[in-house]
Amino acid sequence: MHELIVGIDLGTTNSELAIIQDGAIRVIPIHGRPIMPSCVGLDGTGKLVVGETARNQLIAAPEHTILSIKRQMGEDVKVSLGDKQFSPEEISSFILRELKQEGERELGRPIKKAVITVPAFFNERQRRATQVAGELAGLDVVRIINEPTAAALAYGAGVKEGETMLVYDLGGGTFDVSVVVVENGIVEVKASHGDVRLGGDDFDDLLVAHAIAAFKKQHDAELPRDTKTLRRLKVVMERAKRTLSDEPFVAIREEYIDGPRHLEFELLRDDYERLILPLLERTLDCCHRSLSDAQLTPAQISKVMLVGGATRTPLVQSLLRNRMRLDPRFEIDPDLIVAMGAAAQGAVIAGDKHYSVLVDITPHTWNTTAISYRRGYDELVCVPIIRRNTPLPASKSEMVFTMFDAQLETKVDVYQGESDIPAENTLIGDFLVTGLSAAPANNPIVIHFDLDLNGMLKVTAREKITGFAKTVTLDTRAHHAVDLDEARRNIASLVGDSTGPADRTDAADASAEDATADTQELLNTAKDLRKRGEALTQKNPTADDANEIRDLIHHSAAAIKDGDWTTLAEKNDALSDLIFYLED
Ligand code: ADP
Ligand code: MG
Repeated sequence: MHELIVGIDLGTTNSELAIIQDGAIRVIPIHGRPIMPSCVGLDGTGKLVVGETARNQLIAAPEHTILSIKRQMGEDVKVSLGDKQFSPEEISSFILRELKQEGERELGRPIKKAVITVPAFFNERQRRATQVAGELAGLDVVRIINEPTAAALAYGAGVKEGETMLVYDLGGGTFDVSVVVVENGIVEVKASHGDVRLGGDDFDDLLVAHAIAAFKKQHDAELPRDTKTLRRLKVVMERAKRTLSDEPFVAIREEYIDGPRHLEFELLRDDYERLILPLLERTLDCCHRSLSDAQLTPAQISKVMLVGGATRTPLVQSLLRNRMRLDPRFEIDPDLIVAMGAAAQGAVIAGDKHYSVLVDITPHTWNTTAISYRRGYDELVCVPIIRRNTPLPASKSEMVFTMFDAQLETKVDVYQGESDIPAENTLIGDFLVTGLSAAPANNPIVIHFDLDLNGMLKVTAREKITGFAKTVTLDTRAHHAVDLDEARRNIASLVGDSTGPADRTDAADASAEDATADTQELLNTAKDLRKRGEALTQKNPTADDANEIRDLIHHSAAAIKDGDWTTLAEKNDALSDLIFYLED
């Protein structure tokens, strides 16, 4: 068995832990869930609590709860928790310790070594602080890697030379976009832009303001703006926001928000999207800027990877598609992709090269139809409900509307394909819904698609005002047997392969891949050390130290040129020791 080196995404909002096990990437549940809030607190008895428990006490005990500590990593500050003061490294170490302990419990073996990810824009101090946090948690941090690099690794970077990818990362508090290129077997961040004050939290704030206005409309009274009410609203609206990623509307009901009064209103996804559009436009500006820094056009990007929970917002995907002509990929869970990439890197360092990311996805878009007024006349168009590359099982809804007053029935079509013209897609089935109420035209009908792992599609049409519904199940398997395999292969392999013997015909090829992975690992290290070494020589160390650094960099460059990996490994070790000593 290889040595265990885990991957950790130490996020501002949430953190995750992943490993490579039996050839596959596995995300380790923490407190029973794949995602742990990066939240630290003291409970009523003064005991340290981390994760979900800490976040749950946010409303009741704000002064005993710490959120978003990552924003302060590398700063010389203290934060208070109860009557004690802690550095950001110490608070982060509590998060890492929890991941380590929970992981050990789940796996039944000790976790000693980790690869931890940081944003591409983190400077040396912030990286060092992250490393220290790991050490305080009892972890040997064998490598710090950039989050976009980890995302690229999870998508199998390193397999195709010269691939240019865009990583769009919208988390809770920050937005980052990076252009990454695979060159000489190394994943390199070419350009990176972002906004450290833009993320899902801002969407929540807009929704809270919206809720306050809705309350005023409902009761003709102001909601009190104390911390407790505001935090409660934030929890409610954050949940509503997530619902809107899958559903066209959400009913919000929060009882006794103000004395006897309830907050009760309905929010349409369209209205929500109008609220957040200006913020998302700022993310597109950042994309344009990083593309122009890297001197690239959108057409030169081979893959767009979505990272961060907030990229589940459908508007993010449609803006990238429609405004930038980019086709984003989201077959790997955007919450988990960074930790998965870190685990992949950990496995490479441990010498394990045969693993793959396997996810079941739908290779086609699943549509219903509606009449739309375009190009001067009414025509039947496809309305996508479950998009291509969505992980299975998937469950999504969209709204369509009746055309006439007192329209008592409607036909529901199901088409598979990427065109918005039905005739260009494959008709999977249709059914008639009779018994609608005699409502005026534009009566909303919610069409819900439920696609399971076996390819069974359950379609429900529900009249929104009455709740009257009809459900039909369609067997879609005949339509996608072949493509599913192809899509799997397409996203499956990182380095090596575990999809089956058919893909493992050439033993020589496999060992060549091994060599490449080892070399990549050495080159990565050399490059990282060179950068850090060069940075150190600028910070006036003694002349002897500076000369020794330059000397080692020179020899490692020569070793790279000669392909002398043994020497390179020696120089890496020497340089690493020297840097470690000097950075302190
Ligand atoms: P970070 O990198 O900052 O730790 P994450 O990648 O975990 O952050 O993203 C957290 C953000 O994603 C939060 O604002 C959360 O509300 C948002 N989010 C999570 N799931 C969804 C969803 N289904 N739809 C929209 N936003 C979501
Ligand atoms: Mg993140």
